[in-house]
Amino acid sequence: MNGINGIEVRNGGLYFDGNDLVGLAKYYGTPLYVMSETIIRDRCRMIKSEFTDKYPDVAAVFASKAFQTLDMCRIVQSEGLGMDVVSGGELYCALKAGFPPERLVFHGNSKTVAEMESAVESGVGRIVADSLYEIHALERIAAARNETVRVLYRVTPGVDSHTHRFISTGGLDSKFGIPLDRSVRDLYMRAVLDSPHLGFMGFHFHVGSQISKNISHLAALGIVLDLIADTKRDYGVETRELNLGGGFAVRYLPDDPDPGVTHFVAPMMEKIKRFCADTGMAMPRVTIEPGRWIVGEAGLTLYTIGSIKEIPGIRTYVGVDGGMPDNIRPALYDAKYFAAIANKAGLPPADIVTIAGKCCESGDILIRDIALPKPESGDILSVFSTGAYNHSMASNYNRLPRPAVVMVREGTHRLSVRRESYEDLLSREL
Ligand SMILES: *Cc1c(COP(=O)(O)O)cnc(C)c1O
Repeated sequence: MNGINGIEVRNGGLYFDGNDLVGLAKYYGTPLYVMSETIIRDRCRMIKSEFTDKYPDVAAVFASKAFQTLDMCRIVQSEGLGMDVVSGGELYCALKAGFPPERLVFHGNSKTVAEMESAVESGVGRIVADSLYEIHALERIAAARNETVRVLYRVTPGVDSHTHRFISTGGLDSKFGIPLDRSVRDLYMRAVLDSPHLGFMGFHFHVGSQISKNISHLAALGIVLDLIADTKRDYGVETRELNLGGGFAVRYLPDDPDPGVTHFVAPMMEKIKRFCADTGMAMPRVTIEPGRWIVGEAGLTLYTIGSIKEIPGIRTYVGVDGGMPDNIRPALYDAKYFAAIANKAGLPPADIVTIAGKCCESGDILIRDIALPKPESGDILSVFSTGAYNHSMASNYNRLPRPAVVMVREGTHRLSVRRESYEDLLSREL
């Protein structure tokens, strides 16, 4: 159907990675997150063929905040990628899944001391420092253990990824990363270089998310390469590692662009090589951190349609049994999604309708104005490309239990995360 990843129509019904979606909805109930292990593994393998196998001394880590479960950690590990974590909770999950700590990268713009302690104790491969506060805390933690902790600095390159306008001087308004302004740069560099228990490895940047053109990545890279040259000149320090972040776009709507990984990494690697040739520096070890790109199109969400409310001359609201607690993205940043009625896959569109979530918020609208075959109560609605930042951002607003996650693969299915129960909802209450 319209080239949606993993979707086929068989006998008027939608199939995903070989599984009948109506059957899955009946078996597991709705709302239901369905993740295709085939697509996740394909994406990991594309990262390998287009990046890690293609260049010497590079690495790819999955940004697990996009979708983290024990099951997912094991899949990522078996595909040979590393993983990035941004909190004590994500670190805990990765370690519980048996993920090798040396392949973890620890991020976050406001890490707590307890989080930094567990990161150091568990032996995570790299910690990406985001402030002087963290440098000082990490030095104390490492000194107390008489260990060396390897750190990178996250920097704010000052590239506006939404409009592709460059902010070249000052006023770099971001809570992420250390500012590169010359008035404070020395303070940051001295802090890390003068910390006897910190091993400074290099720099990290992440320009933003769901970016479909490489312009902002390349602009940010240019700024960070200048920083690498300055660091060599001012401190005699060679940058050994360079982490380019993630942000590669996926398709939410059938006509969305599909830039792929090569579009970003090939010109960036070329630019780094040229820089090293021109300056006589050794190639740094380059890491990328795709999150959404690995899981976004690997997931869909199934809902049961309940109420259908036609406001004559205005709009038809089609109510479903989930909404903003299982997918906050439309309410949070006006994200657009595409959907189909799984049991009416062969039928042509009949109505333009609006898919409404069940929460007590007028903003709880999953999709505004989508053409669907005539919807009826009891139909199963499939919303596509929900694999990233849906399950991981889910809440219990209105006391809605969070949906189950089912992993499908070539016609087989297994429960990966069970549905929350009403008892679960009260389990922390005294
Ligand atoms: C969120 C994030 C990523 C992944 O972003 P995607 O858009 O999901 O690829 C990578 N690195 C860092 C530091 C992030 O915060």
